[in-house]
Order: sequence, then C-alpha cells, then structure tokens
Amino acid sequence: MTMKIVDVVVPVALDRAYSYRVPAGMTLAPGDVVAVPLGPNEYAGVVWGEGHPRPGLHNKLKDVDAKLDVPPLREELRQFIDWVADYTLGSRGTVLNMALRMGQHLGPERERVGVRLAGPKPQRMTAARARVLNALADGMTRLKSEAAQEAGVSAGVIDGLIDEGTLETLVIPPEAVAKVPDPDHNLPELSDAQNVAAQTLKEALNGGFSAFLVDGVTGSGKTEVYFEAIADNIRKGRQTLILMPEIALTTQFLNRFEARFGVRPAEWHSQLGSRKRARTWSAIAQNEVSVIVGARSALFLPYADLGLIIVDEEHDPAYKQEDGVHYHARDMAIVRGHLAKIPVVLASATPSVETEVNARRGRYKRLALPERFGGQHLPHIEAIDLRTEGPPRNRFIAPMLVEAVKLALEKKEQALLFLNRRGYAPLTLCRSCGYRLACQNCDAWLVDHRFKRRLVCHHCGFSMPPPAVCPKCDAKDSFAPVGPGVERLQEEVANLFPEARTIVLSSDLFESVERLREELEGVAEGRFDIIIGTQLVAKGHHFPKLNLVGIVDADLGLANGDPRAAERTFQLLHQVAGRAGRETGYGQGFLQTHQPEHPVMRAIISGDRAAFYDTEIASREATGYPPFGRLAAIVVSGGDRHETESFARKLAAASPLDESVRVLGPAEAPLAVVRGRYRFRLLIKSPRNYDLSHFMRGWLAHAPKTRGSLKLEVDIDPQSF
Ligand code: ADP
Ligand code: ZN
Repeated sequence: MTMKIVDVVVPVALDRAYSYRVPAGMTLAPGDVVAVPLGPNEYAGVVWGEGHPRPGLHNKLKDVDAKLDVPPLREELRQFIDWVADYTLGSRGTVLNMALRMGQHLGPERERVGVRLAGPKPQRMTAARARVLNALADGMTRLKSEAAQEAGVSAGVIDGLIDEGTLETLVIPPEAVAKVPDPDHNLPELSDAQNVAAQTLKEALNGGFSAFLVDGVTGSGKTEVYFEAIADNIRKGRQTLILMPEIALTTQFLNRFEARFGVRPAEWHSQLGSRKRARTWSAIAQNEVSVIVGARSALFLPYADLGLIIVDEEHDPAYKQEDGVHYHARDMAIVRGHLAKIPVVLASATPSVETEVNARRGRYKRLALPERFGGQHLPHIEAIDLRTEGPPRNRFIAPMLVEAVKLALEKKEQALLFLNRRGYAPLTLCRSCGYRLACQNCDAWLVDHRFKRRLVCHHCGFSMPPPAVCPKCDAKDSFAPVGPGVERLQEEVANLFPEARTIVLSSDLFESVERLREELEGVAEGRFDIIIGTQLVAKGHHFPKLNLVGIVDADLGLANGDPRAAERTFQLLHQVAGRAGRETGYGQGFLQTHQPEHPVMRAIISGDRAAFYDTEIASREATGYPPFGRLAAIVVSGGDRHETESFARKLAAASPLDESVRVLGPAEAPLAVVRGRYRFRLLIKSPRNYDLSHFMRGWLAHAPKTRGSLKLEVDIDPQSF
C-alpha cells in the first residue's frame, strides 16, 4: 500500500493528527519519523496512519518535507502513546514528545571527526600553528574541538592545517552504548524460595502478558530472583527494562548487575548528556542494547523487542510524574506490558495498597520471599515514647537512642539516624514577637539551611540570607530555629559523639549525582560511623556495617491529612528500619514517636505487615478511596485569587450530571499558593469500574476555557489527595 496522504502526530501540545501530502518519490509507512511544516515552524513528527482525502481540501494540504533517517516508532509504542494520552488526558502530541524528546538530536548522529599529525610542516608558520603542532606532537588522534582547545586556537586554524595536509582527519567510531551482558557470567545459588520464584518468572517469559508481585522482606534477595528472569530473557535475545524510582542512586545496583552479568546495563535518566541520550535512544531502537535501567521516562523508549519489564520498589512515590503528563510509571508499565504481551514484575517489601489488593485478588501473582537470604533475622524494633522518654528541650535524640548509638560505636558498627527533613530547621521565628519567616511567593515557611547560610523555600526555590533584624518588631538577632532538620541533628550528634565520623546525606547537599554516589559508596565501605539522612537513605541501599537505625521523628508523615499518609509512613519507616542488620542479622531499630499505639507504629514494631494492610485496606474500602473507588483531581491556578477561585467554581458548575460521580470542591489545594500562584482543587470520585478519563474528557470539552494567567491541570489517580 502506498499512502498519498499521511496523518502525522506532531510533538506539541495538541491531541489531533495533521494530514500531509506525500510528495512523489517518497514512500512512508506508519511509525516513520518525518519533518513537517506546522504554522511557521518545522517539526519532527511521526506518521500515525493513512490520511483520507477530503473533497476540496486536498490542494490545501502541505507536503511532508522529508523522511528522517531515524528508526521508526513501532506500533506497540504508538499504541502505548495513544493509551497514555487517552488515560491521562494529556494530549497525544505531548506524550509523543516524551518519546521523541529523549532522542533529541533526531537524525543520524553527526560524525565525530578526529585529527592527527600527518604530513609536512605548513608553508607558512604562525604562532598559533606552532601551538597546534606542539599540542599534537605525540601523534595521537584528538577530536577537532579538543585539539583546538588544547592549543588555544580557533577551529579555523585547525581547518587551515588540514587543507595544507599537515593534519589528517579520521572518523572516530562511537563507543557502543552498552556491552552485551552474559547471562551465565556468574550464576548464583538460590535458596529454595528464591528458586521457586525465579522458575515461575522464567516460565512466564514464554506466555504473553502476566503480572507478578515479588513480595519479599528487605534483604530477601528480590533482585537475585528477577536477575534470573532477566538472564533467561537475555538468552532469548530480548530486551529488559528495569525501572527504578531514583536512578541517580543506583551505583550498588549497577555493581551487582555487573557482578552477575559481567557488564553494566545501559542507563536512562535525566542526567545523561544529550549525545549519550541520542545514542542510547537509537541503540535501543536497533536492539543493540539488551538491558536498560531507567527512571520512569524509560517506559517511552522505542524498544525493538521488549520481553520483560521489572518495576523495582514499586511502591515508591517517585514513580508518579507530577508535572506535564501526570502518569504513574508502575501502572503504565502494566499497560505497556499488556500491549507488548510480556510479563511485568513488581518488586517490593512494602507493596502499595493498590498492588497488595491486586495480589490478594489474584490479578497479580504473588511470589513470596518471607525470609532474609541466609536466614538473617529482621531487625528488632522498639518504640521510644516521646511523651515520657523524650530528649531534653531543644534536643532531638532520646537518651535510650543515645545509649544505643554509643554501643554501636563501641562495637565499631554503623548507626543511621533518619529524619525526613532537609536543612537545619523547618521553621524560624522571632523570639520577641513570634513573627515567622515565610516565603514571599508561596504558602510555606522558609527552611533554615545553615550549611548554605540561606533560608530557602522548598516549593519555589526562593532564598534569602537570615535577616539580622525582625522585619516586624525590629528586634535584633531575635530569630530562633524551631524543630530539627538533618543539619541540626548533625550538630547534636557532633556534641554527643565528637569522635565519630559523621555524614549528612540529603539531596540538597550534593551538586552532582557522582558526588552522592561516591559518598554512598563510602558509607557502604564503612568510612563513616554515624549517617544522618533523609529519605535518600531509605531506598534500597545495602550498608553491610549498619546495624542500628534510629528514626528521629516517626510521626512526621502522619501529620498531614492525606488519606495515603498511613501507607506512605508505613512504607518509609519499614524501608528505613530494613537497612539495619542486613549482613549481620542482628539489626536494631528505634522509633521515636508520640503515638506508639498508632496502627502504623504497631505494625512496624511487631513486624506484622499483614495487620497493617488489613486495617488500611478495610479503611479504604469503607471510604471508597483507591483502589476501591477512583479519583481524579483538577487544580486551577492563577495569579489572582478571586479570579482563580471563581473560575474553579464555574468549572465545577459545568460538570456533567452523573449520579455515580461526585465532584468535591473547589477547595484550596494543599499548598494554596505556589510561586505566587493561587491554587484551587476539585476532587472527583467515582466507583472503581467507571471510566473516569472519559467523564473528564466530556466535561472539559464543554467547560469554560482558561484565559490569561489561569491554568488547569488534570491528574487522574492523584497520589496525594
Ligand atoms: P532485597 O532486594 O530483597 O532487599 P537483595 O536482593 O538486595 O534483597 O539481597 C540482600 C543481600 O543478600 C544482598 O547482599 C545479596 O547479594 C544477598 N543475596 C541474596 N540472594 C542471594 C543468593 N542467592 N546468593 C548469594 N547472595 C544472595
Ligand atoms: Zn516559595
């Protein structure tokens, strides 16, 4: 079939495809990447299908400018893009942009040209030319740009020397994106439970779509289990995607992969350089990469032959993308697996309530690893009741925990103090008038960051030096910190244990991922005695010398009114405590809390995970919250409070009548002002088996349109609500 007209989706915020004529001599197929004009611009778009001539219109159609030399987008990926756009109410163009943007420099890569010394000295010698000859005297090949830089000359000088034959040029072949992993490089000996789970996964590789929950306690060897499925998938010559919540922190994982398979996998995350990105993108499309470890956006890569998807730490909130297209990578991984007819493996020691319910219902097959590998015990956990056993005023580590840390230091073991709060203090107030320092753009307090000597807003990034006088009462040096952040905790630790080698691990303290990776390795190697950290340390790390975990404020996450607060807190505390004793098997955990009788604390202390899920599932069922009902949110924001609120009201009034759907609000969003924009939220609730995306689409098609500074964001399945 030759197409005369094609429908092309263009990566801009539009849902529809545009029709173009195919010029004579060009043959196009669905999935081809083409250059097309749209308005005053030219875009790289993707042929979605055949266009249909409409009488009278044909002559007005523009021509496709060119077919680009880029691997075409396979049908499976195009279907996935359609699906995600339809579900999230993101426009197809925006979703396509996520798939293409990654390839940034679409089109064949510019060849990298190197130069080296070849022929006779140039006829005319200049100082600049002499410097080049000097720099290249070793006879080695360098990139043109490097040679110019080294010699301190312009590219023109190099070109001149090439013309004269003094330098010769060579094409430098690109390095392979990743070497081929060897499934038999280093075969493990699996425990019985691991073996059963691994066999089940391997068998699933032959059988189309299926979903699994590898449900193993911390340290049970979940990774080892899914590595076996990956090994078989490599043997079949098919590609594997491993999603990780925080790809920047995965050094240990990469090392383990290398130990098992002999080489590192390809990586995909936002910090890849653009050249590497483009190369990885193409290599994946051409099946030159067999295993990709990536952040959520890796779901949109153009796999040539995807055979298996793993979602590690599937419960992690970082899987939800909260800007642009709001999607949950775990859920979309299931969709992608469905479309590709391949197994999807979710792994967690603390599954999300959604996944736990799916496993209980049998929709996901549960593969249980109930014990730590090697029979190590799970950590022993106890509560420190802050009402009766708390620390003295303005101190944050209770005497019992101080003693435990002391003991750990004596035994030359590591201790981790966990506090999920960056900075020095979450609030700063004037001692004489009570004035609190707040952000000028947001509805939020400024957080004291002493290491940087700034007060910082965590929502918009606004910062200022600590004021010398109170802006309200003019008192001098009257500001005092209220409550602890990790930096303040370190101060206390330094006073208590001046000899100990301490480190603060908090995302804001590292300029680069590399630095952070180094420090984490330092912790694993035992170069620090006391680690003070935010949630950064909760995620999947294996610190062999760590036996004691102290949770400084276990109640922190429970305070806000979010219905998911209990689940989140349970997961975080369980994961953090699970860092203890992974090697020795006698880990210990302390929870500092004001409410030791809270179901979350009780479940953590008793280790009775099922009890927590039972309670939480029953409460979700009773209230109709997910996964027993569905939710969507619309956030309306704008520069003027009154205008924003009244628009949100009009929007609510325009919602279609449907007795199974409830529209709640508008109410002020949890953060009512961000970056100087007022935010109002509508919450939409429906029964479980209801097509909420469809309802929302119908509503928004006929609702009043935003104007001026007003903006509307739709979030299907919001994670905080
Ligand atoms: P999880 O991801 O379930 O927390 P890991 O996969 O990180 O657990 O395993 C915990 C530790 O046990 C790691 O150090 C891992 O190397 C080790 N381990 C797990 N299974 C095996 C095995 N079959 N053989 C050798 N070591 C194993
Ligand atoms: Zn702010």
